[in-house]
Amino acid sequence: MPKERKEKSNPFHFAQEQLDSAAKIMKLDPAIHSILREPMKELHVTIPVKMDDGKTKVFKGYRVQYNNVRGPCKGGIRYHPEETIDTVRALAAWMTWKVSLVDVPYGGGKGGVICDPKKMSQGELERLSRGYIDAIWQIIGPEMDIPAPDVYTNPQIMAWMVDEFSKLKGYYCPGVITGKPIPLGGSEGRGDATAMGGIYTVREAAKHLNIDLNHATVAVQGYGNAGSFAAILSKKLFGSKIVAVSDTKGGIYSAKGLDPKAVLKHKQKTGSVVKFGRTEPISNKKLLELKVDVLWPSAIEGVINGDNAGRIKAKIIAEAANGPTTPEADKILDKRGIFVIPDFLCNAGGVTVSYFEWVQNLYGYYWSAEEVYKRLDQKMTRAFHDTLNAYREYKVDMRTAAYIVAVRRVAEAMKLRGWV
Ligand code: GLU
Repeated sequence: MPKERKEKSNPFHFAQEQLDSAAKIMKLDPAIHSILREPMKELHVTIPVKMDDGKTKVFKGYRVQYNNVRGPCKGGIRYHPEETIDTVRALAAWMTWKVSLVDVPYGGGKGGVICDPKKMSQGELERLSRGYIDAIWQIIGPEMDIPAPDVYTNPQIMAWMVDEFSKLKGYYCPGVITGKPIPLGGSEGRGDATAMGGIYTVREAAKHLNIDLNHATVAVQGYGNAGSFAAILSKKLFGSKIVAVSDTKGGIYSAKGLDPKAVLKHKQKTGSVVKFGRTEPISNKKLLELKVDVLWPSAIEGVINGDNAGRIKAKIIAEAANGPTTPEADKILDKRGIFVIPDFLCNAGGVTVSYFEWVQNLYGYYWSAEEVYKRLDQKMTRAFHDTLNAYREYKVDMRTAAYIVAVRRVAEAMKLRGWV
């Protein structure tokens, strides 16, 4: 990739640019602004792993603690072949705004390991996950920094990680990791929490825009944890029609509508949504440009950019992924009147239920699924309307409005603690 293009698509630069625009509008104290432009602390580690062929492979990993003024850092761990320190920095910054926007007592953090989990055995993944914890355990803990799942990590990986940390401490510490399997202290409702949180924000957005979700069409890009549940819940709770879904291998389209649960079963069996019966193939590129009511980018960053933003025809973009829209695209979408539910609002349901999980772990007292969803709905609806109020007051796009609300709370805490 030519250097200039790489520079142009650096997600951390996007995160800084987004903060800069909000800072200008809200007249943020320059000292606070400088602190918030950079991560507070980062750890770079090497992880030697014995592979199944007997050879040792050395992986690189990171943990970024972006800001902890409002509480311990919180954020997932990504396993990705193209992970970079700048991606982890951007994701850690977005976590800072996310936890502030839903008003849970955390700061932002994120972890990443450069690896390709699709090409690793379960044994290799377990040794890598334990090795990562061995390398970072001194800077994490229920009061310090609490990891969770993200792209290509899952509850089983969290189980190995919580076990490794607990062995190092000498006692079981469920509160160090969230997104755990339920028998290990995981929370009811954590599995589909990211999508469910997004669903609540789409419900509120549709009320604001006067869109009838019962007659709405939906396209979902990415069919992992967030995307598959977004499709399933859109059909189940709203009665919307899912016309297209995709994953890294390609997409499928049906004007009549798909059964998202059956598509998930097909993906679990074959490894992809493609070739699901009675559908037409569609590329990821074309899927993003479909004329639908709700588009859910649910994979990775940068998919809606300067190249395609002019051709997006959705009414609502529900950003289940982190960072799917670049700042250049944001300007184009705003001009074209497309309503964006920004990532750190739309996908905040995951970390909100992670917070509930941590609270339950600290209490040693567990809630029903019903209780979890009720509290999640309250948090998401509140965050949506806080953002919508700022959107009206400052006459900015929804992302900038969300920044204004989130950054204001972080700045207030910094002032109160005497950091500036
Ligand atoms: N990785 C998820 C996110 O980006 C969840 C983080 C968490 O639960 O701590 O929000």
